[in-house]
Formats: sequence, structure tokens, C-alpha cells
Amino acid sequence: MTKKPVVTVIGSINMDLTVSTKVVPRQGETVMGDSFATFPGGKGANQAVAAARLGGDVRMIGAVGSDVFGNDLLEHLRREGIDTSGVASVDGVSTGTATIIVSNGDNRIIVAPGANHEVTVPLVERFEEMIKESDIVLVQLEIPLSPVEYVSKLAVDHGVPLIVNPAPYQTLPEAVLRGATYLTPNESEATLLEADSPSTKEKWITTIGSAGVRLNKDDVIVPGYLVDAVDTTGAGDTFNGALATKLAKGSSLEDAAQFANAASALSVQKLGAQQGMPHQEEVESFLK
Ligand code: ADP
Repeated sequence: MTKKPVVTVIGSINMDLTVSTKVVPRQGETVMGDSFATFPGGKGANQAVAAARLGGDVRMIGAVGSDVFGNDLLEHLRREGIDTSGVASVDGVSTGTATIIVSNGDNRIIVAPGANHEVTVPLVERFEEMIKESDIVLVQLEIPLSPVEYVSKLAVDHGVPLIVNPAPYQTLPEAVLRGATYLTPNESEATLLEADSPSTKEKWITTIGSAGVRLNKDDVIVPGYLVDAVDTTGAGDTFNGALATKLAKGSSLEDAAQFANAASALSVQKLGAQQGMPHQEEVESFLK
């Protein structure tokens, strides 16, 4: 068997707390809901899981609180085959959570970043060797910008390709824009990025929902797949994890984009972000 490509993901790790209710409480009101469930989430962890299922040797850098959710999430990442030696377990802060109220097909979400804000430059510094040994590095913006900026410099110093998924959108420091090999906005993020930094367009891989993806450098569209979408939560995360793994294997940008479209098309046919993420064999047989 050939060696798996090493994909290092730096980003958020959350527990999603989902409560379904017919009635949403008003200020000061208590209501009885229908059901409650917890799901592992966070863009960083989601993209790491996608990359691992799709054939990457994935290492994660991030932080959780030393609480029940943190321990559960670490164990979950390890079960997915992800190396968590870069994930700090921090005392005195909570693990990141997203509290999601689902009512009549609509979502209301409160994110409490907690330990994700403990992803700092000194933490990333400790794992410089890990970054140096990577075939690709993948980062999003649910952690502070200073470690993102630091990672960009390390990637440049060590000649490691870097994918920056600018989500949720924030104006990026010059060093990140320069250090990124690829930027992967969705359509609304691309509009904001265009206003901030039109000169980086050559690096964009813009996801355009069911239509697939635009490779802005050549202004070529790699078309998506027509499927019955059930839940598009995490489609972008599957796309980024898949793209990173395939590029790390040395595939061309077009091939990697096609593979990532296929992986995401499979993921939107199932409920949930991580639960819907396919394994490598499923994508390969879908593409046959
Ligand atoms: P985000 O989820 O970040 O908003 P997109 O909606 O652009 O990003 O979706 C990311 C990728 O997921 C797309 O490039 C495409 O490959 C795939 N995708 C999203 N929605 C669908 C859909 N309804 N049918 C098929 N593929 C989809």
C-alpha cells in the first residue's frame, strides 16, 4: 500500500447541541421541546474527519476544554483515525459548542467558541515540525487570526502548500493572503473577498453549491453532481477535506476538484455534517 498523504488541519472543534422544538421561547419564557441530541462539529474537526475518511493521514491542531465534551470529541477524532497529539486540553475553559434550536425547518444557532480561542501562536509553534512534515495544511477561520497568520508564515518557510477556507468570513491579514496557496470561499464569501482582495483571485477555488466549483485562475467550472440533497450542512467542509487530501496525493487541481465535488454530493444526501461524510471507496465507486 502506498503511503497516505499527510494532511494537517488547524481549526475549531465543537460539540453541536441540537434541540428540536415546535415553539421557540420568547424572552423570559420556558417551553417544552421535542428532542435533544449532540453531534461532533466545528469546521476544523469536520474537515479533518472528511480528509481522514477520504484517505488522508490526518493530524489535527486545535483545543478543547478539559470537560466531558472535550474528552468525547478527542476520542471521536481518534476513532476516525486522526492524530490528536496537536490538540490541547485546556483547564478552566469550556469546549466550543454550537447550540442549535431547530423549529419548523428553521435554525437558530448560538456558538460559544470556548477553547477554540485558546488556539494561539505558542500552541502552533509547538507543532512546527508537524507542519513541516505535512504534504498540505488546511485552515479555516473559527479560531483567532493570529495563529492563522503564523501558520501561513510557517507554510511559506517550509514550502508546504496551504489551503485557507475563509469561513466564517473575516478580512484576512496580508500574510495569510500571500501565504495561501489556495483560498476556498463559497459564493457569499467570494463576494466579500472580492471587495477586500481582488488581486488574490488567481488562488480561488470558489464552491458554487450544486453547480460545483469555479477554478478562478482559468475561469473554468468543474461541474457538480445532480443528486437529491437532504441536508447541505457541512458540504463545504467535506469539499475542503476532500480537496486537501487529493491535492496532497499529487492530483491536478481539476481532478482534486472533481473528487471533492463527488465527495460533497454524496455527503448532502445524508443528514448531519460528519455523519454524511463518505469514505474513499464510496467516492471512487460513485465516480466510476
Ligand atoms: P458551503 O456549504 O460552504 O456554503 P457550497 O454550498 O458551495 O458551500 O457547497 C460546497 C460543495 O458541495 C459544492 O462545491 C458542491 O460540490 C457540493 N454541493 C453543495 N450543495 C450541493 C447539492 N445540492 N448537490 C450536489 N452537490 C452539492
